[in-house]
Amino acid sequence: MAGTSSRNSEVIHSGIYYPQSSLKAELCIEGRKLLYKYLAENKVAHRNCGKLVVAVNESEIAALMELQANGIRNGVSDLEILSGAECKKLAPEVKAVMGMLVPSTGIMDTHGLMRAMKIEFEANDGFLLFDSEVCEIKRIDEKYLVTFTNGEQFLAATLINAAGLECEKIASLAGIDTAATGLKLHWCKAEYYKTSERFCFDKLIYPMPDPTGMYLGIHLTLNIAGEVRFGPSAYYVHELDYAMDESHKQEFIDSVTQYLNIDTEKLHPDDTGIRPKLQAAGEGFRDFYIKEESSKYLSGFINLMGIESPGLTSCLAIARYTADIIASLN
Ligand SMILES: Cc1cc2nc3c(=O)[nH]c(=O)nc-3n(C[C@H](O)[C@H](O)[C@H](O)COP(=O)(O)OP(=O)(O)OC[C@H]3O[C@@H](n4cnc5c(N)ncnc54)[C@H](O)[C@@H]3O)c2cc1C
Repeated sequence: MAGTSSRNSEVIHSGIYYPQSSLKAELCIEGRKLLYKYLAENKVAHRNCGKLVVAVNESEIAALMELQANGIRNGVSDLEILSGAECKKLAPEVKAVMGMLVPSTGIMDTHGLMRAMKIEFEANDGFLLFDSEVCEIKRIDEKYLVTFTNGEQFLAATLINAAGLECEKIASLAGIDTAATGLKLHWCKAEYYKTSERFCFDKLIYPMPDPTGMYLGIHLTLNIAGEVRFGPSAYYVHELDYAMDESHKQEFIDSVTQYLNIDTEKLHPDDTGIRPKLQAAGEGFRDFYIKEESSKYLSGFINLMGIESPGLTSCLAIARYTADIIASLN
């Protein structure tokens, strides 16, 4: 459990950002509802704290209104537009001319979620192999012979590629030409800074998102312990290196101070993460790719690629969607 699921913002997203009818929109909204229920039933720490998206000047107001309209198109009906004065009342330290309250957003303990799923999976006779790397996939009699680096092998009629940052490698091992089929993966790094500063509000604070959909903007998140973090930043990388690069710190501070006055002395490097994106630098929106690959002569191979944010919020809906694909094969 050391992949992207361990290195993220731990936010339960509402589903306002993604184009109508996209998998990201539909699975996020379905997944959010399923996730709140699952977290409660399995006693995993979480809090439906809500978030405030802020427009910091007049020029951002049209985009904020469009974000509300998009959320409503997607079925998020409880969005509330607030004046600058109302934003101040809710979060006195925030600089905003207008804001949008998103009540369905929340935070969760992602490690607690993974632990709960592991227990449930194993209780239902699931078998998990840790520290084992798939290095070869061969087609044998309409099945897949999967070989691990330690020599262990499994034969499976159905194979799901859910390898996160390495999903392109697994797709290639299965025989897919990822470049020719538009499935090249791009790694996009994220950095977080923690602050010891305390604020008077208990909501997450988000700026207006990046217009290309590359990321949601460097926002303020709270974790279950009540700690305040800023992040994540976004820049494309060619290596899976989680080291913090503090040369981006000023850029980071400049983004945050647009919507919040902070004491930069209290800002300390925190975690980093890497996004598995199908969207290349400079490209527009790319959806989750979840498909059974019969059309590529790989029947029974179910390919999950580009499972970036809102992947955690969507996880139970992605599982439901994948299970439906498997059921349709039989
Ligand atoms: C910075 C950042 C912030 C995010 N914030 C949020 C958020 O607030 N809310 C939200 O909903 N989503 C968020 N996400 C997205 C979310 O974290 C991911 O969508 C989700 O965790 C992906 O889960 P996964 O299981 O697909 O991938 P992973 O968690 O990466 O799991 C993939 C697994 O495959 C294994 N694997 C890889 N290659 C092989 C191989 N060859 N053989 C065997 N195993 C292999 C890995 O070891 C790993 O265990 C964020 C992502 C990032 C990067």
